Amino acid sequence: MTFFPLPAFNDNYIWVHHDATKKQLWAVDPGDASVVLDYCQSNDCRLVAILVTHHHKDHIGGVKALVEQFHCPVYGPKTLSPEVVSQSVQEGDLISIQNTELLVIETPGHTLDHVCYLGTSDETPFLLCGDTLFRGGCGRLFEGSPAQMLNAMTRIRELPAHTLVYGTHEYTLANYRFALAVEPDNQALIAANNNAAELRSNGLPTLPSTIEQERQSNPFLRFDVGSVIQGAATLLKEAPATDLVGAFAQIRRAKDGF
Ligand SMILES: [Zn+2]
Repeated sequence: MTFFPLPAFNDNYIWVHHDATKKQLWAVDPGDASVVLDYCQSNDCRLVAILVTHHHKDHIGGVKALVEQFHCPVYGPKTLSPEVVSQSVQEGDLISIQNTELLVIETPGHTLDHVCYLGTSDETPFLLCGDTLFRGGCGRLFEGSPAQMLNAMTRIRELPAHTLVYGTHEYTLANYRFALAVEPDNQALIAANNNAAELRSNGLPTLPSTIEQERQSNPFLRFDVGSVIQGAATLLKEAPATDLVGAFAQIRRAKDGF
């Protein structure tokens, strides 16, 4: 089960899965319809399903035009039903798209309605995680609390190590600049940054990542590592928090002001 990115706007990826035999495509968070329409036209396929992670415009802006064209189901949080979403989903739901089962995981934090989709039908699990987790970072807390996002990060980092992580934005190099300011001696992070810099210099996406890579290099999954907590507090010129929610909130605030 592989997805590849259709670039949209400045730094969005619309992840799509293309079954060339059946000439079918599904798309995740199509913020821009034209990108998907062009792909379908050029590659002789039709859109059969849309997955939506949350309500932000750059994730749902293209849904209406695509549904008008293809009349496909749209899975997503119930806050968007029925205007955008035709099949509303919630925590624990199992949905099936072209024989691929996806588990819905609610991850409030970036927004209150954010959901991720975990595919486990294959040998290699995959997580379609919108703006919850990025390579080297996580989404800003526009609506949720640090405690909610900490809960999401805790659940995500417990997924199998080889799970592929498909976030929506190409923020990796900026995320690593912050991560390296927090944790300059983390060798796995230094290696991940070098790898990402090389990919970007060749015009390639740095995604997907893996849970293992994120555990080793993403400060938002390393909220209980002493050097990360100390590093974020130092950037904020504050004393390190003594509880995990406080520490996570400091890491997030340090990144917001970086
Ligand atoms: Zn968003």
